[in-house]
Amino acid sequence: MNISFDYYSISLLLGGFTALLSGVIVFLHDRRRLENQAWFWLNLSSAVWSFGYFAMVAVVTSKGSAMLSDSILHIAASCIPLFYFLMVLAVTGRYERHRNFLFTMVAAGVFFMLVAPTSYFVRDVFAKGPFRYVPDPGPLYAYFTVYFFAIVLYALWIVSRRLKETYEPAERGRLWSIMIFTIAGFGGGGSVFLLTFNIGIPPYPLILFSLYPVISGYAIFRYQLFDTKVITTELLTFGLWIFILIRALLATTPREQVVDGLLLFLTVIFGIFLIGSVMREVEIREKIQKLAENLEHANDRLKELDRLKSEFVSFATHQIRGPLTSIKGYASLMIEGDYGAVPDNIKEPIHIIFQSSQAMATIVEDFLNVSRIEQGRMKYEWSVFDLRELVNQAVTEAKPAVERKGLTISVSLGSAPLVVRADKGKIKQVIGNLLDNAVKYTPKGGITVTLVGRQGKARLSINDTGVGIRSETIPHLFQKFSRAEDASKVNILGTGLGLYVAKEMLKAHAGKVWVESPGEGKGSTFFVELATGQNFHELDSLEKSDKITPGTSKPQNP
Ligand code: ADP
Repeated sequence: MNISFDYYSISLLLGGFTALLSGVIVFLHDRRRLENQAWFWLNLSSAVWSFGYFAMVAVVTSKGSAMLSDSILHIAASCIPLFYFLMVLAVTGRYERHRNFLFTMVAAGVFFMLVAPTSYFVRDVFAKGPFRYVPDPGPLYAYFTVYFFAIVLYALWIVSRRLKETYEPAERGRLWSIMIFTIAGFGGGGSVFLLTFNIGIPPYPLILFSLYPVISGYAIFRYQLFDTKVITTELLTFGLWIFILIRALLATTPREQVVDGLLLFLTVIFGIFLIGSVMREVEIREKIQKLAENLEHANDRLKELDRLKSEFVSFATHQIRGPLTSIKGYASLMIEGDYGAVPDNIKEPIHIIFQSSQAMATIVEDFLNVSRIEQGRMKYEWSVFDLRELVNQAVTEAKPAVERKGLTISVSLGSAPLVVRADKGKIKQVIGNLLDNAVKYTPKGGITVTLVGRQGKARLSINDTGVGIRSETIPHLFQKFSRAEDASKVNILGTGLGLYVAKEMLKAHAGKVWVESPGEGKGSTFFVELATGQNFHELDSLEKSDKITPGTSKPQNP
């Protein structure tokens, strides 16, 4: 075979091989990705075009073979802009937007493939310039040229548009690489059109064609174009194989040949194992990454649902509060005789209506507080006051319920004032709730309320002789909706929100609440601790903001 190796034929041969290598490596790495598939087919068609041209300009000697090569290379050339366009769409994420254009161009491409072997496309081939055979364009060839370059320019326009939109360095790197290898590849390869159209400029840029897979290779490493992490291993291994193969071919003595042959055999075996293991590792890493992404997604969704739930609870409870206040108010007015004397047989039912609506109002208030806490909307109004007075008030308000149940209550508040800086309403709510619980969960006996000041802290304890709490229940008691297993036997209406709200409110006061109980049936003691007097400077920052995010939360159940 008489092959003429010159600048042009070597450029074409080199371009064909580099394109083939780049396409195959990228495809082998991850054949599921659209851009990898498009890159593979683009490079395969480029390689066929390149080898076809090489055959025409440097190998074949008969017109018939040259015409056959010409048809094959033009069928491949019709595919090139289509796969190139698809690859650009996949990398830029613009597939959906330009799909219709792509499909129209595919139709045009198929048309050119069908007519490529006819004389409408290429009339003849003959020697021109440095080439053995060059096509003589038929009437359709000009349209083909427009089709070819119009798609490439359109793709470049898409890439440049994307470049204007993005500031992410890696993505910009990828887009610029596409720009550069497009110019190199199509500028270099396309320069043969000059000869075809008898423009007197030799296709010097042809060597650039062999550079585009090299530029894309750089982009693959530098900017993860096609996201091919295994490529380093593959390229190094391929490089090593080729190096040893050349050594083996150039070996002069049989000894060298045997050694190099053996070396080649071993490197091929180890190389295959190495690439396989790297691929597996990458696959596992990708799987983990995907799982993490899914988890993050699910987490976001849960957070969103939680937010919606809080909003719903807040909305629903707000709606319930109004009617409930009316029921309670009118029941109270009826009891007090504002609508005339109440017949004896109705007194009890009205009383039940009043008590039930009051219990329900407490539940609604608890729900509202929980949703305020969860949405960070709880507002605190800070003031300085004597805690003894507040405890006294709360005890006075609880007394009727204590007496109704036939319990006793003893109170010891000390003689010195215990000045705290706190939200009066909230602290009263907490104490009221604890007293309420003490009454609810104490069938007989009494309640002892003690307030002492010690080491800059006021400590309130509310002890009862009630049902007590099992030690294993204690750690969970201050969580949302947490109730002791048999709590409903004693108090059916409870929600398990009161202690959670108390804990959150005290957290915002940099205080704490906890419980101690010797066990079931042995009563329990709830404690509340708040800073007094000299520690106020620490609380100054609290006063300035009305929404508090507690910074020094302490254990609730030491
Ligand atoms: P609720 O009383 O509405 O159930 P809380 O959050 O106020 O909700 O109380 C949570 C649980 O703690 C109660 O269900 C009960 O099991 C337990 N508990 C609270 N106070 C006492 C107490 N004084 N004695 C015994 N158990 C109590």
